[in-house]
Amino acid sequence: MNAPDHLLACPHCAAMNRVPVARLAEQPKCGRCHAPLFMGTPLALGEADFDRHALRSTLPLLVDFWAPWCGPCLQMAPHFQQAAPLLEPALRLAKVDTDASPALGNRFGIRSIPTLVLLRDGAEVARQAGAMTREQVVQWARMQLAAARGR
Ligand code: ZN
Repeated sequence: MNAPDHLLACPHCAAMNRVPVARLAEQPKCGRCHAPLFMGTPLALGEADFDRHALRSTLPLLVDFWAPWCGPCLQMAPHFQQAAPLLEPALRLAKVDTDASPALGNRFGIRSIPTLVLLRDGAEVARQAGAMTREQVVQWARMQLAAARGR
């Protein structure tokens, strides 16, 4: 049985919003600042705001762990970016710079980058290391989500 509502952190003002599942695809806006809750782009998250989106929000979070000096990460960046509008609002996409937020890299035991980690309620559901194309990101995320729902 599906929960009737999702809790979503606003990417702009950090307010927690309650959004009925049926209205997720209707471009929901933040109740406090009225900005769109989905922008068709990954959120750049750091140690200060990560848990708001990974733990307190109930939507699955797909995180790209990367660093500015990593060639394959930079190659993959536009693909990950373009995957966002295709995967929202089934999940949210986020990027974590492991140089700027080493504690998050350590917390998830990131050994190589880029690494994609899919989280649900703050817990890891799946991970995949190595650069992927837009199509591979979308297919992989949809497959893992479907598998996680069946668990
Ligand atoms: Zn807001």
